Amino acid sequence: MTPAEAAELLAHCAAFDRRTIGEADARAWSRALHDVPLDDDTRGAVAEHYAHTDQWITVAQIRHLRARIRTGRIDAAHPVYDGQPGETGEQFIARRRAQITAAAEGALPERTITQAIGAGSEAKLLALAGAVGRSVDGEEPAPYVDEKTRTAMRSHLPGNRAALVELDVDCPNCRAAQRRLCRSSRGRELRGTVHGQRRDAYAVRHAQCPECGAPPSHACTTPEPHPARVRAATADRPMPNRRQLDRLMRTPPTPRENRARHTTGGQHR
Ligand SMILES: [Zn+2]
Ligand SMILES: [Zn+2]
Repeated sequence: MTPAEAAELLAHCAAFDRRTIGEADARAWSRALHDVPLDDDTRGAVAEHYAHTDQWITVAQIRHLRARIRTGRIDAAHPVYDGQPGETGEQFIARRRAQITAAAEGALPERTITQAIGAGSEAKLLALAGAVGRSVDGEEPAPYVDEKTRTAMRSHLPGNRAALVELDVDCPNCRAAQRRLCRSSRGRELRGTVHGQRRDAYAVRHAQCPECGAPPSHACTTPEPHPARVRAATADRPMPNRRQLDRLMRTPPTPRENRARHTTGGQHR
């Protein structure tokens, strides 16, 4: 503000505190408030001060109170600037600043943080929450692989392998044929699991995709089947039974030195 404006501000203060004002005061305040305009917020800061105290206001208090008034408006408006396609970093900063200034001036309406981030009305959210866990058209989801098919597949798989329904398809990874266990790159049979590609192939062959709706034997819209489809395909995989668990717990792990000898010395166990 100019010395003339500072004089006007001091006159405003004198209305409250009856101070006498000289030219030196006006010049000093003008210099100290060189970057602060004489506007409603500056006058508001003076009024705010004298609403609470009889002590004479200082330049520092005017700055502080004016900033508080404006920050309060920014907080209430929750300005969000998402940027515009193709704008430069400088344009972004300039527009973001302009938006914050507009909020400080009170030019932006007050809004909640929810409105600011565009999360929609509470009613809309509540409506959505009620639909969580239900299928879109309101019907019961059909079983992805019907139980009869699955039982039929299990029945021709021997013993423990019945749990690995994926053995029903050839493995695209290790080329294990139908009903054969997958083999690791070293030729060892994988027990209790199959290669991921075989699991995918099984899901595509037998399950409908809950994500993109691809029917059995039809690929998903994506190069790899949707994870939901793979999960759905083996959703009812049976847990190992009590006896199998007991046997697993009783089987001691292969002693370390044996394995070391095997890999380094090539001796046969
Ligand atoms: Zn395999
Ligand atoms: Zn899919």
